[in-house]
Amino acid sequence: MLFPLNARPSLAYNTGGRRFGANRSSGTRKHAGCDLIAPVGTAVRAVEDGTVKAFYYFYHDTYALEVDHGVFTVRYGEVSRSLPAGIRIGASVTKGQHIASIGRLSGGSHMLHFEMYDNSATGPLTNRRNPPYQRRADLMDPTPHLDAARMDAGEPAPSVLPQFITPWSFARMCFPP
Ligand SMILES: [Zn+2]
Repeated sequence: MLFPLNARPSLAYNTGGRRFGANRSSGTRKHAGCDLIAPVGTAVRAVEDGTVKAFYYFYHDTYALEVDHGVFTVRYGEVSRSLPAGIRIGASVTKGQHIASIGRLSGGSHMLHFEMYDNSATGPLTNRRNPPYQRRADLMDPTPHLDAARMDAGEPAPSVLPQFITPWSFARMCFPP
């Protein structure tokens, strides 16, 4: 699997509110993905070859793109409404292709909310009746997959995004999905 951004976030996705399983909604729900903090407009790339399944409004002025990658499905969440040319329902995408861009939540924060499903279930990815994640039964913890993900085909040493989050903007960040 390819990492979905061309640089690893400087803020770890396996801790705090960004990690999979972090509490949401005062502990009544758990975070169903990992939050990869990156600047607005950062290219999101397909982690494997796949087919675009859905694109829809997601949360606080951001959208979500669902791509079936064969052995798993990814919900690329909190992306911008504007998609690169050719990205539409049914489109085939290739590993590494720019498929979306990081959006800006109405609260001002910006990240890729990354969810994975192993395709052993069918139906909508969100299922409010399935606690604690409120997601489809085949939800996976994406953390080990992101940890093991390659940065590109040649696999150079991972680079790190520059620090761009001021204490002020960090304080305003929220991560509900
Ligand atoms: Zn999230």
